[in-house]
Amino acid sequence: MISTKSKYNRVLLKLSGEGLMGERDFGFEPNAMERIASEVKTVRDMGVQICLVIGAGNIFRGLKGVSAGLDRSSADYMGMLATVMNAIGVQSVLEKLNVPTRVLSAIPMSNVCEPYIRRRAERHMEKGRVVIFAAGTGNPYFTTDTAAALRAAEMNCDALFKGTQVDGVYSKDPKEYTSAERYKKLTYLDVLARDLKVMDASAISLCKENSIPIIVFSIQTIEAFADVIRGRGKSTMICEG
Ligand code: UDP
Repeated sequence: MISTKSKYNRVLLKLSGEGLMGERDFGFEPNAMERIASEVKTVRDMGVQICLVIGAGNIFRGLKGVSAGLDRSSADYMGMLATVMNAIGVQSVLEKLNVPTRVLSAIPMSNVCEPYIRRRAERHMEKGRVVIFAAGTGNPYFTTDTAAALRAAEMNCDALFKGTQVDGVYSKDPKEYTSAERYKKLTYLDVLARDLKVMDASAISLCKENSIPIIVFSIQTIEAFADVIRGRGKSTMICEG
């Protein structure tokens, strides 16, 4: 392994399902998946232990099911199952790059992947395997952002990295307003009080209570994950004041 220039020993990377679909409207785009996998590989090769939580917005979100007439819990279970599909897809692409990977699901499905067991997940990471947490928290009425905050706390991660389509948190939508400014640093309370839509409030609160910094960066920018891990590149850090 290449020596680490990272101040982080163990991190969680949260990716939305949309990141996997590239230019498409639905599902997977092979180039987008391969790019994300190579970002993860670069950081792992720096000696950083990595776990991932991947959403399912590219396949199914609970609220979409609700608007189609399903009850919320059923729709949310469908959303959680969709995150398992994404986890298996990303595992397959990572393994093509020779990155050892394990998928651990909060909803046990032993023919497909391992069940989520905290100590086992830690052991996998200590052995250098990338762990992908699937099926969110295993409970309806939550999101994969909250699952990411929960797993980051359980795994004693040094930080939660949120890879998005833009390179941080802005004062306004940067795609609409050229005057939008990127914040370099925010407190958890800033995000909650200003309703900045970085992650849902329960995820932010969980990170606040457990002093887990959140770093928002663009997963679309090549090598951006490695750069923010080294403390360089563009991002917004959310932490205590
Ligand atoms: N979900 C859930 N409980 C969880 C995590 C996820 O019920 O702990 C469901 C919920 O319906 C959500 C869907 O799974 O809409 C997909 O997750 P999310 O919307 O967070 O995906 P993302 O927006 O990150 O792609």
